[in-house]
Amino acid sequence: MPGQIVTRFAPSPTGFLHIGGARTALFNWLWARHTGGKFLLRIEDTDRARSTQPAIEAILDGMKWLGLDWDGDEVYQFARASRHAEVAFQLLEQGDAYKCFATAEELDEMRAQQRANKLPMRYDGRWRNRDPQEAPEGAPFVVRLKAETEGETTIHDLVQGAVTVRNAELDDMVLLRSDGTPTYMLAVVVDDHDMGVTHVIRGDDHLNNAFRQLGIIRAMGWQQPIYGHVPLIHGPDGAKLSKRHGALGVEAYRDEMGILPEALMNYLLRIGWGHGDEEMIDRARAIEIFDVSGIGRSPGRTDQKKLENINGHYIRGADDARLTELTAPFVAKKIGRELTAEDRDLLHRSMAVLKPRAKDLLELAEGATFLFRTRPLDMEDRALALLEGQGAELLAAATQALSSVEWTSEALDAAVRDVAEAAGVGLGKVAQPLRAALTGRTTSPGIFDVLLLLGRDESLARLTDHKAAAN
Ligand code: GLU
Repeated sequence: MPGQIVTRFAPSPTGFLHIGGARTALFNWLWARHTGGKFLLRIEDTDRARSTQPAIEAILDGMKWLGLDWDGDEVYQFARASRHAEVAFQLLEQGDAYKCFATAEELDEMRAQQRANKLPMRYDGRWRNRDPQEAPEGAPFVVRLKAETEGETTIHDLVQGAVTVRNAELDDMVLLRSDGTPTYMLAVVVDDHDMGVTHVIRGDDHLNNAFRQLGIIRAMGWQQPIYGHVPLIHGPDGAKLSKRHGALGVEAYRDEMGILPEALMNYLLRIGWGHGDEEMIDRARAIEIFDVSGIGRSPGRTDQKKLENINGHYIRGADDARLTELTAPFVAKKIGRELTAEDRDLLHRSMAVLKPRAKDLLELAEGATFLFRTRPLDMEDRALALLEGQGAELLAAATQALSSVEWTSEALDAAVRDVAEAAGVGLGKVAQPLRAALTGRTTSPGIFDVLLLLGRDESLARLTDHKAAAN
């Protein structure tokens, strides 16, 4: 029986958690959870100039928000530098690596000549068979892998299928720099091995690296992982995803677009992965049906409409108390003040009528703001227009009728119907100026819901404000 599957996500903390990275993490997480394996997180912070603490936090935060929980503590690659160097020296000792004393000027010259002769640019192995004794005393050196020069290497990639490269195309790459620090190529391989990673699922921009990394794995006699190189996400126009296509960082989906984490997860899963025509796949269902072999070989595309549909679906199904918590900050931003406990309570009670209409939390907040506006309301022009002419008459009649009824849905309904009937118009005709006067807008939840949520005093006060203004 094969052993436990171990996957990992290995982001470089140089910015936010990119949605492409989140999707890669999701695939790894799902494969581990589906198979009862482990999902590990490794922060690849070896690039000291570009790695930042805020970027690390953004990644951890984004992963937690999406519910992509990892097993054990996250591993920090930079902290393992001495272990990486140890492997480089072991390779040196075994004769699978060598010291290269070529100076930067020498290598520049080598490349210039290759360019001039239209040859591929690669290290020419000048110290591969040379006696290190020939180097000047104390001269700095790098450690290079003695790569195979003959034959070919085939990777049976879970996503890309069989991919073959001639070994002669790969030069002797640097493992340790002259200051003794490990290169990224070495660090990845050593960490994956030490962490027991069985499946390396990552962006297909790393496919070429896999062939080089295999050189180290073979020289060390380590078990080769199974690779799955996932196509990067493209924009709706088919071009590689970039800023002009919209938000790239996971936190923008949360903080600026009002997307729920389960919706983003469902959406990312559905980019380039499918299970029949199942569109709404929640966390539990995803764990049940996910299979790496279902990842498409051509790049998936982003689709704003699809995201909105999925998000609306999860909003409709979400718990009202949770939605209240999530929507409150967006409402606060719109009305320019924090919500009181009473406001939150009202927001909570409104959820049932607000959430069927919203595609994201911003729309939910927009739909809720009328509840918290202070009188006299500032009016949209189109709403004001509804309060002219016949609108004003109907509003006056409705206000009068409402001021003497019990504040129940049935009584309110009957009162407004009577007004419509007396004026010989449809119910909608009366509802329009009522809505405008009560919300300052032309769209809102159903008029009786609005009246009930605002309550008698606030409703009548808002209606009377307009009567006063009209006089
Ligand atoms: N740190 C690399 C990146 O963020 C990933 C390396 C890997 O997955 O092997 O692109």
